[in-house]
Amino acid sequence: MKIFNTLSRKIEKFEPISPPSVGIYTCGPTVYSRAHIGNLRTFISTDILKRTLNFLGYEVNHVMNITDVDDKIIKESKGEKNKQKEITQKYEKLFFDDLKELNIEIPEKTPRATENIEKMVEMIKKMLESGYAYKTEDGIYFSIQKSKNYGQLAGLKNISGVKSTVKNDKYEKDSQQDFALWKFYNKEDNEIYWDTYIGKGRPGWHIECSAMSTKCLGESFDIHTGGTDLIFPHHTNEIAQSEAVSGKHFVKYWVHGGFLNIKENTSAEAEKMSKSIGNVITLDTLKEKNINPLSYRYLTLTSHYRSEMNFSWEALIGAQSALEKLFNFYNEFGKNIGKVDKKYVSEFKKLLENDLAIPEIIALTWKLIKDDSVSDADKKATLLEFDKVFGLGLSELKKEEIPREIIVLAEAREIARKNKEWEKADEIRKKIEILGYELKDSKDGFNILKK
Ligand code: AMP
Ligand code: ZN
Repeated sequence: MKIFNTLSRKIEKFEPISPPSVGIYTCGPTVYSRAHIGNLRTFISTDILKRTLNFLGYEVNHVMNITDVDDKIIKESKGEKNKQKEITQKYEKLFFDDLKELNIEIPEKTPRATENIEKMVEMIKKMLESGYAYKTEDGIYFSIQKSKNYGQLAGLKNISGVKSTVKNDKYEKDSQQDFALWKFYNKEDNEIYWDTYIGKGRPGWHIECSAMSTKCLGESFDIHTGGTDLIFPHHTNEIAQSEAVSGKHFVKYWVHGGFLNIKENTSAEAEKMSKSIGNVITLDTLKEKNINPLSYRYLTLTSHYRSEMNFSWEALIGAQSALEKLFNFYNEFGKNIGKVDKKYVSEFKKLLENDLAIPEIIALTWKLIKDDSVSDADKKATLLEFDKVFGLGLSELKKEEIPREIIVLAEAREIARKNKEWEKADEIRKKIEILGYELKDSKDGFNILKK
């Protein structure tokens, strides 16, 4: 398989460190508010990558952290411990509910930052001892000039002359500064602090991910994912810290998902979906509009994971009707599941292995559905194979419960047809249609579909 690596900015051959195992680390949600569908696009993309690797025979160990302490959470809870717990537990649960609704497989491990402080402190201590880190009045900082290739991931060139420090976790590319590993206690933190041998305080955001990823996957692992906004400073700083501590190459492949953008109105420019802009949509909004969350999953499959995607309600409604059509075809293909079509699956694999060409695979799916040279039963088997990666839930698709009354009518029509009582058969069909159902004759009898 080939995959785009942000580190080299090239599509590279994928060769894991110890095949068939593959370790993936994903920066998880900051649980102080509801995830929006932009965040969820990135988590769907990682899920597709994980399913692809499993499909290709790898054994994936997926770790996704939960950021349950950071500047925003402390602000939101006014530093009250109980409030912090209440907020983070609430939004963590809602986040996992969202994953389930989108058929995103729950990662093998989901460590919480607050439960891994010891590992963070241990790493910071090592950096203090080796001179990569230094103390100031308000915290412990990482000296970016000490780092060998600082900024390679983000394509930064000139970092000499950096002297200032930054305590906030998020800052812009043109202000590369020494960043906070540990933030000493101040009164706004109220009850949220850890009293440790490096001082009383709390971790910076970047060290959280370095600690949890290396603790769960080792000092060098295969894939790290997240949205493109995390390339700088978060992932850049993760590399600097992790490599300073281990002296080893941190991550082999950096895989970043493109942003979801949205227009405020038809004449406006599309902007990234973000809580700070206030243009977010959640899965609840979709459900209020009778849109199945899986329609959103389908919509994301129609754009390549690295491209930016512009959200529109029209496109989402289009995705919903395409997904319903796919489900209907799948049901209409009858009860029998035949053999996987080798030609189609080999094309499917070829496209997957080419940096996850999912939009092309969606086109291939519709070609298969319309292909008269493949039997209905074989189409079903092949669609189920594709769905191991799509994750649209075809195998769990329940046939709509058909009311007894309709089944009795359909059987009566079948008898009429066998007796060549065409008028009677037609009458019964019309009655069934008035009741909201449709009959489709097939080789082995009939299928009843809800209209
Ligand atoms: P956060 O909870 O803000 O740390 O974000 C969780 C994940 O969502 C990160 O991987 C971000 O890069 C990603 N993300 C944030 N906004 C968007 C967006 N508009 N489109 C796609 N991914 C996003
Ligand atoms: Zn992270």
